[in-house]
Amino acid sequence: MTAPYNFSAGPAMLPRAVLERAQEELRSWRGSGISVMEISHRDPAFVQMALKAEQDLRDLMTIPDHYQVLFMHGGGRGQFSAVPQNIAGANDTVDYLNSGVWSEFAIREAQKFVSKVNVVGGAVNTEQGRAIAAAEDWQLSADAAYFHYCPNETVDGVALHEIPAQVTAPVVADMSSNILSEPLNVERYALIYAGAQKNIGPSGFAIAIVRDDLLGRAQGTTSTIMDYTVQAKDKSMYNTPNTWAWYLSGLVFEWLKEQGGVAVMGQVNARKAQLLYNYIDSSDFYSNPVHPDYRSKMNVPFLLADPQRDDDFLKAAEQQGLLGLKGHRFVGGMRASIYNAMPIEGVIALVDFMREFEQKHT
Ligand SMILES: *Cc1c(COP(=O)(O)O)cnc(C)c1O
Repeated sequence: MTAPYNFSAGPAMLPRAVLERAQEELRSWRGSGISVMEISHRDPAFVQMALKAEQDLRDLMTIPDHYQVLFMHGGGRGQFSAVPQNIAGANDTVDYLNSGVWSEFAIREAQKFVSKVNVVGGAVNTEQGRAIAAAEDWQLSADAAYFHYCPNETVDGVALHEIPAQVTAPVVADMSSNILSEPLNVERYALIYAGAQKNIGPSGFAIAIVRDDLLGRAQGTTSTIMDYTVQAKDKSMYNTPNTWAWYLSGLVFEWLKEQGGVAVMGQVNARKAQLLYNYIDSSDFYSNPVHPDYRSKMNVPFLLADPQRDDDFLKAAEQQGLLGLKGHRFVGGMRASIYNAMPIEGVIALVDFMREFEQKHT
C-alpha cells in the first residue's frame, strides 16, 4: 500500500481491500444486477448477509450468547441518550467517569434522562501530562444502576487501559474509537457501544452489545427506535436499518478475520503506537501531552514546540500524502489516528516525514 495515508479521527480510513470490494460489488451485488443499497432489508440474501456480519463480530470479539448484538442508528452520540433511557430509571443514580471530551458529552446527555448523574472523578493534569484520577479517589455510588466510561478518549488521546476493581456496578463503555483494536473480555461489561466510523465502517451507524439482563428496563418514554428490547426482538430491523453501513461493516469484519482477528490487530496496533510515541519522546521538536500510563494506542496527539510552525507542518504533510493530521479544534496541535485500517507503513511514513521536517527546521 502506498500514500495517501489518512490519519483522520473519524470518519476514518477504511481498509483498501474493503473499498475495492465494495466498488466491485456496488452496481451488482452477488450477481443480482442491482446494488446492495437497493435491496429490501427483508430480502433473504440481505438477511443472510446481516446475520453473517453479526456472527463475524461475535467471533471476532468472542461475544457470549447471553449478549445481544444490536445495529443501531445515530452513531456514538445516539447511544449517549439510548443508554440511560434503556438501562436506568429516571430516578436512579448512575456513575460516570469524566476522562475527557467524549465522556463530558455523554454526561450532559445522561442528565436529560436520569436525575442523579454522579461524576465519580476524571481527567487530571500531572507533571507527566494529562491523566485520569486514581480509582482510590473516585466517588463511586453504592447503588449506581451502571458505571459509564470511555476507555479511549479520541480527542484527548487519553486511555484507561483497565477497569479498576473498585467498580462493582454494571460497566457501560463507549468504545467508539477502540472497539476491535485488541482482545477484550466482553464479560467484564454489561454494555459496550461504538459509533462505527472510527474502527468499523460508515458514520451514523452504531453497534451496541447488550447483556440480556439489561433488556426490559427501558423508560416508558424511550423512543421505540432507540429501545434495545425492541431492537433485540426485531433483530435490529424494527425500522429500515442503514443497510449500506451494515453491509460495509460486514466487509470490515471479514477483513479483520482475514488479518488474523483482534489478537493480531492488537499486536500491530501496539507496534504502530510504540513507533510513533518513541519518536515523539526522543525529539525536542515534538511532544505528546499525555502521561505515559494513559496514552491511547488509537489517537496520538502531538504538539510542535513552536506552534507557529503548525500550518507549515500540516501543509508539508499533506503534500507527502499524509492527511487528516490537524488536531481537534478543542485541543489544537496535531493528532494522528491510527486505527485498524492504518497499516504500519503509514506510521513509518509519518515518522519519516516528522523527522525530515524536524531536521529542516532546527
Ligand atoms: C466519535 C466519537 C463519538 C461520537 O460519534 P458520533 O457518531 O459522531 O455521534 C462518541 N464517542 C467517542 C469515544 C467518539 O470517538
